Amino acid sequence: MNYSDQSTEKPSRRDFLKGLATPALALTPAFSLLPHALADSGGKSEGQTSVKPSRFVAIQIGARSFVDEGVDQCLDTLQETGSVNALMATVFTYGTGLAGRQVSGEPLPDHGVKEYDRIHGGSFTRVHPEFYADSPIKDIRAPELGDFDILADVIPKAKAKGMQTYALFEENYNPRLMPNFEKIAEVDLYGRKGATTCFNNPYARAFLASMVSDWAANNAIDGIMWESERQGPLNNTIGASFNKIFPRRSSTANCFCDYCIRKAHDAGIDGNRAREGYIALDHWVNRVQSGTNSPDGNFVGLWRLFLEFPEIFAWERFWYTSQEEMYALIYGTAKAINPRLKVGWHIMHVVTMSPFYSADTNYARLVPFSDFLKPCPYNNCGGPRLAQYIQNVHSTVFRDMSPEQVLDMHYAFFGYTGEPTLKELPTAGLSARTVGIETKRAIDDVKGAIPIYPGIDIDVPTGLDEKRTRPSDVREATLAALKAGAPGVVLSRKYAEMKLTNIAGAKQALQEFTTNP
Ligand SMILES: [Zn+2]
Repeated sequence: MNYSDQSTEKPSRRDFLKGLATPALALTPAFSLLPHALADSGGKSEGQTSVKPSRFVAIQIGARSFVDEGVDQCLDTLQETGSVNALMATVFTYGTGLAGRQVSGEPLPDHGVKEYDRIHGGSFTRVHPEFYADSPIKDIRAPELGDFDILADVIPKAKAKGMQTYALFEENYNPRLMPNFEKIAEVDLYGRKGATTCFNNPYARAFLASMVSDWAANNAIDGIMWESERQGPLNNTIGASFNKIFPRRSSTANCFCDYCIRKAHDAGIDGNRAREGYIALDHWVNRVQSGTNSPDGNFVGLWRLFLEFPEIFAWERFWYTSQEEMYALIYGTAKAINPRLKVGWHIMHVVTMSPFYSADTNYARLVPFSDFLKPCPYNNCGGPRLAQYIQNVHSTVFRDMSPEQVLDMHYAFFGYTGEPTLKELPTAGLSARTVGIETKRAIDDVKGAIPIYPGIDIDVPTGLDEKRTRPSDVREATLAALKAGAPGVVLSRKYAEMKLTNIAGAKQALQEFTTNP
C-alpha cells in the first residue's frame, strides 16, 4: 500500500462505517452533539490539505513554542531543520510532557525563550460551549497564552507551507482545576476517586466526545491523535511501569465505579470477586515488597493467587476492552463530522518493555477503529526507563530471579538479545535496532492495513548522568524505522525540549533513505 497519498484519499465508506459499527457508539452521548456539529462544520473540510509528502514526518509541538518563536518562523525552522510536514499540535493537556517549554531542571535547548515556565494547562484552542451541552466539564480553556489558538492561529499558515495539522491530546488532567471532575473520575478498589477518568462513565465519554466534536467541526484539521498513557489494574498493581513506583502505600487498581460494576455484571463478570482478588493481590505485593518470602517461592505464590481469583484477569481484560471502546468512540465521533480525518493512537513506551502491556495492547484489534498507530520504541530514554521497569517487576513478580536474569528474559521476549547489560543500560540506551524490531512487529500485526508511524525520542528527559540524545541517535533510529517499512515517523515528545541539532538527525536519515532505501 502506498501511504504517501493518504492525505488526499477520498473518504471511504468503509472507513466511515467501521467506526459507526462499533457497539460502544450506540450508547454514546456523542450522537446528541452531531446535528449542530454537522451544521457548524459546513465547508471546513474543503480546506483539507492537498500536500503529498513522500514520507510522513510529524513533530509533537505545544502552543508555547509558536508563541515564543512566532508561528511562521517556527514552521520554517521545523521544515528546514527536520523536513517536518505534519504537526501534532497539543490541543489539550494539563501536563508538561506535551505543553510548555523545557521541563524545569533539564538543560534549555538551542531555540526558544531561555526560561522555564509554569503550566496551568487545559485546552489550547478556543472552546465552543455549544459542543459541551452533555459534558459536566466545560471550563477548560488554558489561560496562560491569552487568546492564542494552536489550531486557528497555526493551521492556515501551516497549510500555506504544505504542512498538515493533527489535534494531539492526552489523558493528563488536573482535577483541582477542572470543576465537576469528580463526576467523570475513576474509582479504585478501595473506593477512592482518582485523577483520571473512567472509560465506562457516560459523562467522561461525553466530555471526550465534546472536545473531539468541537475540534473536528470548527477547525480544518487533518487528523486527531489521542494519548491514553495508562494501563489496566493488573499491570498497575504489579508495577509494570518505567516510573519509580515503589515503595507505594496501596494499589490504585481501577476502575470499580458503579458504571463499571454494572457493565461488567452484564458481561458475566463478578466485580465484587474482582475487587476481592485485587485486594488480595495488593496485600501480596505489600508482603513481597517487605521481604516476606513464601516457602513455595515468590512466583508460585503469585500464580496460586491468580488461580484463586481468575477475576483478576477478567477485570484486566474488561479494562483494556473498555479503553478500546473509548478509541472507537473518538474515532466514530471524529469521522461522523469529517470522514476525511485521520484518527490514530499514540501507544505508550512501555509497550516495548512489558510483555504484560504488550499483550493487552493488541495492534491487530485496534485496526477497525484506527487510521494509523504511533507505537513508541523510544531507544534513548529507553535505556534508563527499561532499567527502572526491570527493577519494578523484579521487586514483585520476578523476585525468584536476579535483576540481570529478568532483563535477559525480557530481551528474549522482545527479540532484543545482545542489547546492553543492566549496568550499562541507563547510560547506553538501547540500540536503533530495537526501533526497527518494534516497527516491523507493528506492521506485521496490522498486516499493512494501516500505516505505522513510530515515535522517535528526541531529548525526552532522563537523568543528567544517564543516556542523552545525540544527532546520530536520531538519525539511526529514524533510519531503522524507515528501513523496517514505516511510511513515516513522529518526532517526540515535544519540540520545546528538543535540540535543533538533534532534530536535524531525522532530516539526515530521510535524505539518506531517499538515496539508499
Ligand atoms: Zn468505572
